[in-house]
Amino acid sequence: MLEKVLIANRGEIALRILRACKEMGIRTVAVYSKADRDLMHVRLADEAVCIGPAPSVDSYLNIPAIISAAEVTDADGIHPGYGFLAENADFAESVERSGFTFIGPRADTIRLMGNKVSAIEAMKKAGVPTVPGSNGPVGEDDDAALAMAEQIGFPVIIKAAAGGGGRGMRVVEEKKYLLNAITLTRSEAKNAFGDATVYMEKFLQKPRHVEIQVLSDGAGHAIHLGDRDCSLQRRHQKVVEEAPAPLIPVHLKEEVAERCVNACKEINYRGAGTFEFLYEDERFYFIEMNTRVQVEHPVTEMITGVDIVKEQLRIAGGEGLQLQQSDIQFQGHAIEVRVNAEDPVKFTPCPGKISYFHAPGGNGVRVDSHIYSGYTVPPYYDSLIGKLITWGENRDIAFARMRNALDEIVVEGIKTNVPLHRDKIFKDKPFAKGGVDIHYLEKKLGQD
Ligand code: ADP
Repeated sequence: MLEKVLIANRGEIALRILRACKEMGIRTVAVYSKADRDLMHVRLADEAVCIGPAPSVDSYLNIPAIISAAEVTDADGIHPGYGFLAENADFAESVERSGFTFIGPRADTIRLMGNKVSAIEAMKKAGVPTVPGSNGPVGEDDDAALAMAEQIGFPVIIKAAAGGGGRGMRVVEEKKYLLNAITLTRSEAKNAFGDATVYMEKFLQKPRHVEIQVLSDGAGHAIHLGDRDCSLQRRHQKVVEEAPAPLIPVHLKEEVAERCVNACKEINYRGAGTFEFLYEDERFYFIEMNTRVQVEHPVTEMITGVDIVKEQLRIAGGEGLQLQQSDIQFQGHAIEVRVNAEDPVKFTPCPGKISYFHAPGGNGVRVDSHIYSGYTVPPYYDSLIGKLITWGENRDIAFARMRNALDEIVVEGIKTNVPLHRDKIFKDKPFAKGGVDIHYLEKKLGQD
């Protein structure tokens, strides 16, 4: 069992992890930057250590500072949350080498999955369906690249092997643009991720984004917690998520989930993880694996009753995974909206002081947020300030509750995207019906 966990993150996920630790009787260490002294979880943690100035590179990405904080507080585990160092294999390695437990997969698994080319290769080997594509890096030979694109069929998408966060991708509609697109994506990838490797995939025209949540003990036992639909996106970033994914035949979901479970066993995956797929014409195509807890994990928790963060802590603490697949019962429907401190029309970040905050409530409503009246959203980090999650016996009830929650929530002093959710997304008929594709939201926004 872990006794004291250092939370190497900030904001809502740091508070989420703190809550899970407290429920399990695990003591907590918050680490924070100078801009984050007033964070909710910093007040609530047993101990708190300032790890550096506001910019993330000097604080939340500062590996030596975080390890030192674990040393001085005598923590035994480190939870990375999502973002920042969560999928940094070097960090996981440093944590374990320094004698602490990394609450996540082994460093070599993170490395394998962090490179999308090697991830796709591993998944193909494990029998997980992938997108038709180059099946490896695009080489220097122009003629070979052109031939490959013709064979895959235009449009194709050029993607950075080390890419993430929706960056390092370029769609190519026609042959004449291909070589230039490869050169551009290579140099972008080199600048953004320090690795110029790119690969090629068929660009699917109207897919949905559907993902499978897994838990695995790293020693041959794995289960899945079903699927989520995260098709509502803007600039390849998720805006609304729900579970289960609507209007997909159950046998197809079960089949792909089973393959993910097998893949976990094959690579001896440890911890919580997500297999991301594009879904089009009744077929699933693997795009990447996330080796961390995800922003949208609560929708899965709401329909399964499983606390994913607690399971992460149990697996890392050596208790293993006690849950069997037959223990997992899916009940009802859950939906999550991301509340961002941003202009609801222009999408520019809007940090600043929240003069007043009122949280929505009622049956089936969950609010995961660190904000409070008087809290100042700093300008240095992601604009996510909270998540509203609603559950209902069915999708319509979950939606009705979300509409209520969006009417009830009050955030004054800064702009948020609540009006976008309330007045546009949750009034949209095709979205309410279910099954819209990943381009739907951008098209809708473009028409306004
Ligand atoms: P990242 O790691 O940056 O999130 P992903 O590989 O997960 O990158 O892709 C992010 C998003 O980009 C997907 O959810 C989808 O919207 C779009 N995308 C990626 N690959 C394809 C593809 N082959 N065809 C169509 N859209 C794609």
